[in-house]
Amino acid sequence: MRSDVIAAVATGTAPSAIGILRLSGAGCAEVAGKIFTLKSGIPLREAPNRKLMLGLLHDRQGRVIDAALAVYCRAPHSYTGEDTVELQCHGSPAMLAAGLEALFANGARQAGPGEFTRRAFLNGQLDLTQAEAVIDLIDAETADAAANAAGQLGGALLERLRPVYDALRDLCSQFHAILDYPDEEIEELGVEAIGAALADAQRRLHAVSATYERGRHLKNGVRAVLLGRPNAGKSSLLNALAGYDRVIVTDVAGTTRDTVEEPIRLGGVLLRLTDTAGIRESHDAIEAMGVARSERAAQEAELAVFVCDAAQPLNDEDRRAMRAARSAPRSLALLNKTDLPQVVRPEELPFETVLSVSAATGEGLDALREQVERWFGQGRSCDGSILTNARQFGALTRAEEALSRAERALRGGMTPDAVLTDAEEAMQSLGEVLGRTVREDITNRIFERFCVGK
Ligand code: GDP
Repeated sequence: MRSDVIAAVATGTAPSAIGILRLSGAGCAEVAGKIFTLKSGIPLREAPNRKLMLGLLHDRQGRVIDAALAVYCRAPHSYTGEDTVELQCHGSPAMLAAGLEALFANGARQAGPGEFTRRAFLNGQLDLTQAEAVIDLIDAETADAAANAAGQLGGALLERLRPVYDALRDLCSQFHAILDYPDEEIEELGVEAIGAALADAQRRLHAVSATYERGRHLKNGVRAVLLGRPNAGKSSLLNALAGYDRVIVTDVAGTTRDTVEEPIRLGGVLLRLTDTAGIRESHDAIEAMGVARSERAAQEAELAVFVCDAAQPLNDEDRRAMRAARSAPRSLALLNKTDLPQVVRPEELPFETVLSVSAATGEGLDALREQVERWFGQGRSCDGSILTNARQFGALTRAEEALSRAERALRGGMTPDAVLTDAEEAMQSLGEVLGRTVREDITNRIFERFCVGK
């Protein structure tokens, strides 16, 4: 039976140098061969394996629409584990659409979202942690996030979790065999051994789930907020950090009425930086709403950056902004406008970290970057060992809870079968991360190891 042939444009929708038409499924080389003729004259289905071949792309009417390269990877040595063809064309969206339409006319169908990776998973080329790493890799907003996703694609997470899953599976399957097949000669597991196995599994899972806070920063960025009175230079700083004019800067106080969020990369750290309306008492209704929003933004932020105009004496608005900033888990103060004569001294600011900067000249911004990297940077640990996925974190937390219940039950003198119900639940949760079906795995293990049912 032939699996159906799926096809899609694998690159974006904007004009670019290269655009790729991708096909997968048994018979895809025949389909692609109808619209792509190799310069060497041999049919595409006879092309050498995994070699780039020059040729011509035709549209539905048979007109040549590109001179391009084709690569044919035969199953199982391909991304999906099936026969795949990639047509590496020039990147005109119109031409790629015409090529795709020609593929459809010759028997391919449009691939659904993620269907290539889904097939790779179903064919055992990737486990679920690796399949999810593909999405993270595509969505990575910093090089550190990409490095971590690449590590997971290489199996880093799988390597840490699989031994735990296997240990639990062994425990559960042995126990099932004891209960279900009392005639078999299987040595009964002692309470001590079960306890030790449970504690070990719990320890190992916790080592992974404890990385999630860092993982969240890595994947979603750090929520940060700029606070300070109007005209302190917050918008100018945001622009200096973002490298372009995101916010309108004027010298009329109170121009930034609402909050704006800007993703900013500082070294390896992605900051979701919110510029707030200047914190001050306001009678203007719209501005008052903006002020309330900035105080809320400060409460929700993980990092608050207080900005003051160091060329002006501190006033009550500054003090109010400082109070708001200090309520965030991490905070620092920036003495802005160092290019002007300074009237504010660092000692006047109740922050452990006070940096002198100039949004106008860029002076001091390196020190700010270093401080942010010290607090939130991941450095060399971005090798795939950091958990970034909320679904995976949820499942691991449930697994840990089930293991802790199992241990409590064991110490409370419950019978081993009650303990193992929780152990199985832990396995179930862990199976959700790895994409494994618990019942099937236990059954396979029972037959494989104990030769039960012979
Ligand atoms: P915000 O209200 O806190 O967002 O302040 P803005 O970024 O709009 O800046 C207010 C004024 O201060 C503008 O005229 C900026 O050009 C000026 N300004 C901001 N940063 C600096 C700086 O480092 N040096 C100098 N000399 N002027 C600055």
